[in-house]
Amino acid sequence: MKSSRTDRKGGPGGIAGIGDLRRPEEECGLFGIYGLSDAATHTALGLHALQHRGQEAAGIVAYDGEQFHSHRALGLVGDNFNAPEVMERLACHVAIGHVRYSTTGETVLRNVQPLFADFKFGGLAVAHNGNLTNAYEIRQRLVQRGCIFQSTSDTEAIIHLIAISEYGRVVDRMTDALSQIQGAYSMVCITQKKLIGLRDSYGVRPLVLGRLGEAWILSSETCALDIIGAEFVRDVEPGEIVVIDDKGLHSIKPFSKSPNRFCIFEYIYFARPDSVMEGRSVYDVRKNIGAELARESHVDADLVVPVPDSGVPAAIGYAQQSGVPFEFGLIRNHYVGRTFIEPTDQIRHLGVRLKHNANAAGLKDKRVVLVDDSIVRGITSLKIVEMVRNAGAKEVHMRISSPPTTHSCFYGIDTPSQDELLAAKFDVEAMAKHIALDSLAFISIDGLYRAFGEKARAADAPQFCDACFSGDYPIPLIDHDKDPVQHQLSLLDERE
Ligand code: SF4
Repeated sequence: MKSSRTDRKGGPGGIAGIGDLRRPEEECGLFGIYGLSDAATHTALGLHALQHRGQEAAGIVAYDGEQFHSHRALGLVGDNFNAPEVMERLACHVAIGHVRYSTTGETVLRNVQPLFADFKFGGLAVAHNGNLTNAYEIRQRLVQRGCIFQSTSDTEAIIHLIAISEYGRVVDRMTDALSQIQGAYSMVCITQKKLIGLRDSYGVRPLVLGRLGEAWILSSETCALDIIGAEFVRDVEPGEIVVIDDKGLHSIKPFSKSPNRFCIFEYIYFARPDSVMEGRSVYDVRKNIGAELARESHVDADLVVPVPDSGVPAAIGYAQQSGVPFEFGLIRNHYVGRTFIEPTDQIRHLGVRLKHNANAAGLKDKRVVLVDDSIVRGITSLKIVEMVRNAGAKEVHMRISSPPTTHSCFYGIDTPSQDELLAAKFDVEAMAKHIALDSLAFISIDGLYRAFGEKARAADAPQFCDACFSGDYPIPLIDHDKDPVQHQLSLLDERE
């Protein structure tokens, strides 16, 4: 979840102030449990496994049969859900949780999820992953009706739509609200009686269903089921609403079916490699992409070196296919926090080195193939190549396990605006020159689809959302297609 692209100041990052050096960031992770005596503790563990999807804030709302209890805080799951008094207060049989990524200016507690509201039918807590593409339009309409917003999040617009719906039952109100929004999203919600999970009708953002004994689990990824010992049951289907209560699980499909357009970048970069998404192991897909890349753009070399961590499986696939030895020529520091250094220019310059360092022992006089998952602004790649050359590499080639990122994402992944994307400005040859590489190659779009066992990308009905590579956006970009300045002003006028 994020509130608006026009609010964005600088990019995301692993450390405050070096966001402009990083690649796209996932926006959120969701987890929910119904029917387990220590649901909140298990939810905290689930969120811990989903921490890669958002490190800026975390929250849990739980229901004990009489009251809702909530704990929401900025920072990591492990830092916020370790105090016995917090976990005792949350000790309930139903809980939902959320990890959040947002841009620096929006990291305020009022935006941290799950959001909670009292309705005439009772309490409702909502956690949301993704982006509405008509959020401005909806907010403007709601503000005109007198709704007062407390946060800048899309989620609050959904809550207002549920509040003003004239239907009686909560699921009907939600269906009514969903029929008015456009976008790519998954949600988990709790009421006094139900745990509810849903995905947008294109299924762009993930949500899976699991079981632990008699309890039901909802999660953004299967790796979070594994951590609590739950069994994977199935993916929540695109456009499906699953409602879990003391009578069991009910599935509702209130909308006409749209073509499935799951986010292909989940496989390339965002998801954990030990997750299974839509029936495919993320690790296997990444290895297959690496093998395709080696078939498409082999280069004579001495070493295949991944840019850790997300480049590792693709580099293994590349090395196995090409027969070139795999080595850890770059070492990643996993203990880099987010906020311990002020974002000065000097630190910005150091950013990449804080996270990665060349393993000089193995690189001297070697022809190196670096394998990474994407090039966004190109700043990280430039610094890494410089590092590998300084360590004595004779040649540095780069192979990228995604096609060139030429378009921004409007579906819940924080990418820079198109004019900042290196591949939107330069062709591959010019990019190689800019990054000072001996050669550069990206997986082709059809090669990418072959890694999934498809023959090629079906141009008239692509099997995935791949808009950041193709510009083919499956869901209309309603807010973006309007003049953002006009849009902002009209909203501000209404609020004055
Ligand atoms: Fe995923 Fe790219 Fe589509 Fe965004 S535009 S949902 S990152 S494939």
